[in-house]
Amino acid sequence: MKTLGLIGGMSWESTTTYYRLINEATKARLGGLHSAPLLLYSFDFAPVAELQAAGKWAKLETGMIHAARRLEGAGADGIVICTNTMHKLYDAVQAAIDIPVLHIVDATAAAMQAQRCKQPILLATRYTMEQAFYKGRFADKFGIDARVPDEPGRTAVHTIIYDELCRGIVTPAAKATYLHEIEILAKRGADSVILGCTEVGMLIGAGDTALPVFDTTEIHARSAVDFALGD
Ligand code: GLU
Repeated sequence: MKTLGLIGGMSWESTTTYYRLINEATKARLGGLHSAPLLLYSFDFAPVAELQAAGKWAKLETGMIHAARRLEGAGADGIVICTNTMHKLYDAVQAAIDIPVLHIVDATAAAMQAQRCKQPILLATRYTMEQAFYKGRFADKFGIDARVPDEPGRTAVHTIIYDELCRGIVTPAAKATYLHEIEILAKRGADSVILGCTEVGMLIGAGDTALPVFDTTEIHARSAVDFALGD
């Protein structure tokens, strides 16, 4: 089995989910006492979130490349960036190392195509919902048209991620806010929901809406195990 290098800590709440899901999928596939060979580079999220908010992406890029090179040097065969938002820096990270970086959009789009979903609601950080790096990849590479809430819905969705979910806080009010945004966009013709932030699965899941739900954390973790097992 190949060794996965996880770039995590953004936030650690979802990195623990990746760790559990990757090991559960490995156990399900290989049985017995098997678990996944993993390396983890875990950031302190406070300065990362500050740099994101300040728009200092060049500095974040330097940190991400450093993390990826450390993991490659330590023996990782592939890199998993355990956050949707930091895929903004995917191209720079991939260009800096010789092992593959497993893109979260590619894994999610494959799962969506299998269910013929093409007009998903995207719930994520402001950066992921508004900037081209994420929706653009879905559109250009896969013909998937991701729709996002209007303001002030986007601000509410973003704020809940940083002020609550990344701090381990899960409230019924936050869940109601997310479900309200889903309801609005479903009425406009959306056919599915992308949990486009790796902590959103803490809040809502498949049973909460009639639409198919694509949890990027689950899908990315599963695809990482497929890679590690050579599928
Ligand atoms: N984990 C979140 C995501 O998937 C947000 C935290 C971050 O900015 O990395 O986008």
